[in-house]
Amino acid sequence: MDARKRRIDDIEHEIITACERSGRKRSDVTIVAVTKQVSAERAKEVIADGIFHLGENRSEGLLAKQHQIKDHVIWHFIGNVQSRKVKDFINQIDYLHSLDRIGLAKEIQKRADQTLDCFVQVNVSGEESKSGLSPEEVGPFLDELAAYDKVRVVGLMTMAPFTEDTELIRQVFRSLRELRDEMAAKQLDYAPCQLLSMGMSNDYTIAIEEGATHVRIGTALVGTESEG
Ligand SMILES: *Cc1c(COP(=O)(O)O)cnc(C)c1O
Repeated sequence: MDARKRRIDDIEHEIITACERSGRKRSDVTIVAVTKQVSAERAKEVIADGIFHLGENRSEGLLAKQHQIKDHVIWHFIGNVQSRKVKDFINQIDYLHSLDRIGLAKEIQKRADQTLDCFVQVNVSGEESKSGLSPEEVGPFLDELAAYDKVRVVGLMTMAPFTEDTELIRQVFRSLRELRDEMAAKQLDYAPCQLLSMGMSNDYTIAIEEGATHVRIGTALVGTESEG
């Protein structure tokens, strides 16, 4: 078995056992293969292995991949968005994981042809280097989004702190889940807020145990191009 197939099989096994540990169904967790560091060729191999959700964090990378990949892919944009770039790609994606300000919602409202499914990015850990709203800001933010019918909030997204402390990572994911439950309880028709985008190569099993519905896995799944 080649290295690529083994990587996917290992991850699949990890996901299944994390689901079992936490009493969840495998079908409740979607793998978003983050292909930002690899070629379209490598991305096509992942698709051939049955993963149809791809994530990119820059519009240039997204558009280049889309130019070369003709399969039916569900495209996730996971990076910070500069408002002036919105028009370049907003009608080319299925999900935006990084909605973090009203200015961005305004630009989406102006540029999107149809309603876009968005995750609100939350900076749970409070690290200054991370983007996202503070947890306290999320409620008022959702209320404000009532004015933007091109934005539908399907869930919340976060990035765990860069640390070896798995209990701290778990706490961050758990806080996001609790916040998601609070926001879903508002029952806003434009913000059902059922989903949780959390977990990357190093922490996706913890994220799944804490309720992730979308894990964004890059290096562990597709490697980096320099590895060959
Ligand atoms: C790059 C990236 C990932 C994937 O990271 P890996 O550690 O390679 O799995 C996930 N989410 C976001 C927002 C990213 O920028």
